Amino acid sequence: MTIKEYVKAKKAEIRDLVLSMPRKPKLVIVQINEDEASYAYIRGKLKDAADLGIEAELIKLPLETSQEELLKKIDELNHNDSVDGFIVQMPLPRQINEETVKLAIAPEKDVDGFHPMSTLNPCTPQGIMNYLKHEGVEFLGKNAVVIGRSNIVGKPMAKMLLKESCNVTVLHSKTSKEDMTRYLKYADIVVVAVGRKHLITKEFEFKPSAILVDVGINRDEEGLHGDIEPGMPVALQTPVPGGVGLLTRLALMENLLKIGR
Ligand code: NAP
Repeated sequence: MTIKEYVKAKKAEIRDLVLSMPRKPKLVIVQINEDEASYAYIRGKLKDAADLGIEAELIKLPLETSQEELLKKIDELNHNDSVDGFIVQMPLPRQINEETVKLAIAPEKDVDGFHPMSTLNPCTPQGIMNYLKHEGVEFLGKNAVVIGRSNIVGKPMAKMLLKESCNVTVLHSKTSKEDMTRYLKYADIVVVAVGRKHLITKEFEFKPSAILVDVGINRDEEGLHGDIEPGMPVALQTPVPGGVGLLTRLALMENLLKIGR
């Protein structure tokens, strides 16, 4: 099933589930930026919520909001029983520390899954795992390579693949091209989360049975591009756009429902 078909089917299931709930789950998004990409992500999240019958509210705070004021708002949301989950959209203005904010959100309302005590996983790796499992991908004893080691994608992705008993290798900006070539050649599952347009090209050799998951979102005047060149000769390659972004959005709604129940 393509990602678009999979997401459509899952959304239909969620819509039915929400319809059967006595109280609609509520998501709050806090935005403190004028970032173009953030606006697009937030529009997507609000649209998903509306499609699914989930209540969603956007709280837009001025750019000069202090860390103390934001922490106060977070505290209010932590204690507001009508709010099931909330997110503080990144990036934040310079006067606000990202880590402090992530830790201030009550783990039981942390729909992004960023808090170290959260029982939920971050949405991007969670969305990827759900899709790969749905597609019947085998993990046990398989060679998984994750390129990128960020706290929101690379690291949690590696942890989740390890939990499924993959042999996990994490590569990053200090990995030499020779080593990358060597690791990719034997990989069964590759997740690329770097943010460099077409970092991975046909120049690299892959197993024909390999599964390539492209997390990258790179914008230029021609539109959106992934970290992997399209049309790789492998068993499965997720597209950009219409790929991991949709899985991430779906996982956010699934996380919210897990909280709400
Ligand atoms: P990030 O925090 O900037 O991390 C990028 C990672 O890539 C770092 O670990 C960095 O290594 C590594 N890296 C940089 N250049 C490299 C190179 N030449 N070779 C190998 N590794 C390299 O980014 P992120 O937040 O994880 O996001 C990565 C990409 O995914 C971005 O394009 C972002 O927009 C996209 N994204 C998409 C979704 C979605 O839903 N589709 C969700 C989240 C992110 P070092 O640690 O050594 O610096």
